[in-house]
Amino acid sequence: MKLRRPPPPCPQAVTYRFAPAAVAAGRQVITLLDSKGRDIGHLDYQVCHPCGAAHINTIAIAGPWQGMGLGREVLHRATDSWSAYAWTTSRQSADGRKFFATMAEETGVEFVPGAGVCPHITASPRVSRSGGALL
Ligand SMILES: [Zn+2]
Repeated sequence: MKLRRPPPPCPQAVTYRFAPAAVAAGRQVITLLDSKGRDIGHLDYQVCHPCGAAHINTIAIAGPWQGMGLGREVLHRATDSWSAYAWTTSRQSADGRKFFATMAEETGVEFVPGAGVCPHITASPRVSRSGGALL
């Protein structure tokens, strides 16, 4: 039996703005905004339905907003509907490894770093972003 831990406190004022992929298996971004509409983090990922594959390009939470469960919450929003898919991530930093290990335990999804993704996700154009990146 798996115990469900209560979620950590999560700031109520944060909103999650979803920008869907423009093309199949394209990049989609969930942007986190504070109560004043400022960008405080994002999750950039791709999902390929024919292959049942998904890939996380970057997840980032701005410094003052770290440790509040926001990364956890945004990852749930991305993965919950597709938890049966094979998830991979870009190369993980030390913080990223810790984060994904915890999230793998909680969600049952393995987040395999640097693994080969399906050809559709690989072919999708890359966009670079910066700032407070876990990956
Ligand atoms: Zn594919």
